[in-house]
Amino acid sequence: MEKDNICIDCSRHIDKVARTLKLDQTDIDILTVPRRMMVFSFPVKLDSGNVQYFTGYRVQFNDARGPTKGGLRFHPELNLEEVKRLSFLMTLKCAVANLPYGGAKGGVVINPHEFSRKELESVSRAFMRQLAEFIGPQRDIPAPDVNTNPEIMGWMLDEYEKIIGKKCPAVITGKPIKLGGSEGREFSTSYGGAYVLDNIIKGLSMDREKTTVAVQGFGNVGMHIARILDEWGYKVVAVSDSKGGIFNEKGLNIKEVMLHKNKTGGVAGFKGSKGVSNEALLESKVDVLIPSAMENAIHKNNAGKIKAKIILEMANGPVTTEADDILLKKKIRIVPDILANAGGVIVSYFEWVQNLKNERWSEEEVLKKLREKMEQAVTELSKVCYNYNCNMRESLYISAIKKVLDAERKRKV
Ligand code: GLU
Repeated sequence: MEKDNICIDCSRHIDKVARTLKLDQTDIDILTVPRRMMVFSFPVKLDSGNVQYFTGYRVQFNDARGPTKGGLRFHPELNLEEVKRLSFLMTLKCAVANLPYGGAKGGVVINPHEFSRKELESVSRAFMRQLAEFIGPQRDIPAPDVNTNPEIMGWMLDEYEKIIGKKCPAVITGKPIKLGGSEGREFSTSYGGAYVLDNIIKGLSMDREKTTVAVQGFGNVGMHIARILDEWGYKVVAVSDSKGGIFNEKGLNIKEVMLHKNKTGGVAGFKGSKGVSNEALLESKVDVLIPSAMENAIHKNNAGKIKAKIILEMANGPVTTEADDILLKKKIRIVPDILANAGGVIVSYFEWVQNLKNERWSEEEVLKKLREKMEQAVTELSKVCYNYNCNMRESLYISAIKKVLDAERKRKV
């Protein structure tokens, strides 16, 4: 295999489970080299009248279990290696959740905060013009990710439908409800994570009311999981966003924190709370730590200082491989991203099914089905991981990889 094509970070993960799974070189190639990687460069006319070229990516990692599925993000530091790794994680995530999908990921190298709404629309539409011939409801189905949202999915869908000359809502998920999006999609990732955590807390005979929680990141995912856990009686003592964090040992009223952020643009300065830095929040003495921002928040330099008993990975890849080893030695239970944040893609799947069948499900129905799917995944995990005292990441990787390789083998002549 061409060395440049290998996903370096995937190899690191695969190495850890290769012996248990008795992987041969063909298996390793399947699991470390994406099936298809696309890099685009496309022009967009800015408000000033100038033309700027943007770089876009789409990596379709593996499609043995079904059409590839995964989000599109807008981020200034996005690069091919990162997209490879994230598309690998999507492949495993869809297998863990038992969805009939392979995995993909993509996005545009852009800092969306530096552009107007009109310019972002032009970028979204121009990117879709590049992508259109490689995606489809039975090929590859994009969705929102970091810094992208239903509005952007709506622009992309509209552009796609103009290109193919007919309606096709099932090509993209996370759309506005009026364009065929699903009820509940906006906070599905957070509900999914909350269901998983609640199951684990019950399994460990811990009480909601006595369980303290810190949430790093107050974007869509972090904000809603903090709100849901607060509503369920958990004691959310700390939250943070890119501008800073807040702490109150008695627990924060998250609905009010949300109003404060709406007014002031950040959580900092919330009445009755003490200020904490993002770093200090990660190291605070809580039962549950929920990293919900970007990758690599917990790394080899701060892993030794983490005091939480459980880490619920709501961001994708918030713990580096080196940090993972350190945390496991400290007997911290890590609920990995491919389970913890699978709620988003699960409701994307429900959206796709509704589109294909021309149906509309209520929010209640969606959340009930989401809960069942998450509980099924937790039950599968608990069969191999008694009392959650094992390496949950490794256990889930092993079962997900088996599912992917089984499907690959069934396709070979
Ligand atoms: N971007 C989300 C994720 O990383 C959702 C992907 C999807 O719905 O396809 O899981």
